[in-house]
Amino acid sequence: MKRLLIVLALLGLPFQGWAADAGWTSNTVLFQVSTIDALLSGVYDGDVTIRELEKHGDFGLGTFNKIDGEMLAVDGRYYQIRADGVAYPAPPSMRTPFASVTHFTGAQTIVLPPGISGADLEKWLDARFANKNFFYAIRIDGSFSRMQTRAIAAQKKPYRPLAEVVKTQSVFNLDHARGVIVGLRSPAFSKGISVPGYHWHFLTADKKAGGHVLSFGVDEATAKIDAISNFNVRLPGDEAFAKTDLSKDRGHELDKVER
Ligand code: ZN
Repeated sequence: MKRLLIVLALLGLPFQGWAADAGWTSNTVLFQVSTIDALLSGVYDGDVTIRELEKHGDFGLGTFNKIDGEMLAVDGRYYQIRADGVAYPAPPSMRTPFASVTHFTGAQTIVLPPGISGADLEKWLDARFANKNFFYAIRIDGSFSRMQTRAIAAQKKPYRPLAEVVKTQSVFNLDHARGVIVGLRSPAFSKGISVPGYHWHFLTADKKAGGHVLSFGVDEATAKIDAISNFNVRLPGDEAFAKTDLSKDRGHELDKVER
């Protein structure tokens, strides 16, 4: 079966079961804390703990209160990659102002073209998704010829917008690293709520480093992918969120922050 799927993918056909069939739905739920525009606006303190997030997923990405590093969850373990570039186990009591997690099954497996760049891989995957209006959780295990990541240091109040804060980010070059990329592809219509397109976080195989991926190149890697048609957003109940103006288009700010 696995071999058949790989052959189908190499032929350029949509992956089987990825919503090409009428009536196909997934039971998988993507659970998200807050909205990307709230984060861009400086709503950096949430009330959802890692302990609670674990109930909603074993796989995903996000950040921590005060933007204290990058979050990555894989195989049920949550990591905090801080501005010193080190990946720490995330304490269950820590809270998040923004995160997206799911119970990952990895329903589809595909060997990626060796040597492909991250930018080309996004186009390559796009050509294979039968339904670009679904969310996709993507796990990539392998070796990476290039891997540039970043992490942001904890901020102090009054919080500045993320497009300002990101200028102080720490950048790490983890070229020739083995490890795992945790990724999410969100549909175009989720603009303002999620990050439309691809959002990747990385953790090295020794689980000691990683971060939000700025750019990468695949050496050899395999992807596992879940199509997701259920989206559950937990909006913050605090005053900062209540008083934030979320009527503005922040697409330009998002490009500065996430790419
Ligand atoms: Zn990120």
